[in-house]
Amino acid sequence: MLMTMKELLEVAYKNKFAVGSYNVSNNELLRAIIETAEEKNSPAIIQIHPNELELVGDDFVAYVREAANNAKVPIVIHQDHCGTIEGTLRAIRNGYTSVMIDGSHLSFEENIALTRKAVEVAHAVGVSVEAELGTIGENEGSSEGGASQILYTDPVQAKEFVERTNCDTLAVAIGTSHGFYPKDLKPEIQLDRLEKINKKVDIPLVLHGGSDNPDKDIRESTKYGISKINLSSDMKRAFFNKLRETLEEKPNDFEPDILFPDANKAAKEVLGHKMDLFGSSNKAPLYKLGVQS
Ligand SMILES: [Zn+2]
Repeated sequence: MLMTMKELLEVAYKNKFAVGSYNVSNNELLRAIIETAEEKNSPAIIQIHPNELELVGDDFVAYVREAANNAKVPIVIHQDHCGTIEGTLRAIRNGYTSVMIDGSHLSFEENIALTRKAVEVAHAVGVSVEAELGTIGENEGSSEGGASQILYTDPVQAKEFVERTNCDTLAVAIGTSHGFYPKDLKPEIQLDRLEKINKKVDIPLVLHGGSDNPDKDIRESTKYGISKINLSSDMKRAFFNKLRETLEEKPNDFEPDILFPDANKAAKEVLGHKMDLFGSSNKAPLYKLGVQS
């Protein structure tokens, strides 16, 4: 069941759970996410980053749409971190139901101007928009990028930003980074800052860099407006580490249906755990019953 981010997160926000937004750039991870979501009776967000789109090509999105339409649970197709209107239009043409416009590296006023433009074109065709204020950090091994220094989201600015841009969801910088944290760096989610932002802003909030954080912080964040959690590295690490093992164990095999199933299983185990952690497991019926209104 394909839907927009606005429809999906309205329910999550009201019921204080988060939906995982999982990066996809191949069929195996897409199947792993949809199958796990169906097994867990959980909604899910399939997100494709512009770098990932370059890898798979625009045609891939038509396949994702078909899979999302056939899924028994609510699914959103979302563009992750795009910084241009051209990229936004490309995503809309491809059939995404949600886009992120990332002007977080710009000045406050420039970020507002860019986000307003994206909102204008996306809303005209019923596509939701996620914006970002503040910057998410960057760790090694992540292709999503990020800033070397985190600029924390200011709650007062966040309120003004949302009012002036009319974005549907807002990614906030509260101490997380993309990818895995180096051994000597412990992630610290600033829950007090999140609580203040949540009081000022009345739209669903988004947590980027959802991998490698303590489970208790993640669970806690959903109480303060975090309704979407981006997750890439934890899932991909499980998938590719297992695939590496299989390739070593079976050096002479080359059939995908022999090499991929164990890697899929490893990714699905991580995904199942995350859906339980985010509180999205068994929440699909909320949508079917129309509880969102
Ligand atoms: Zn991100």
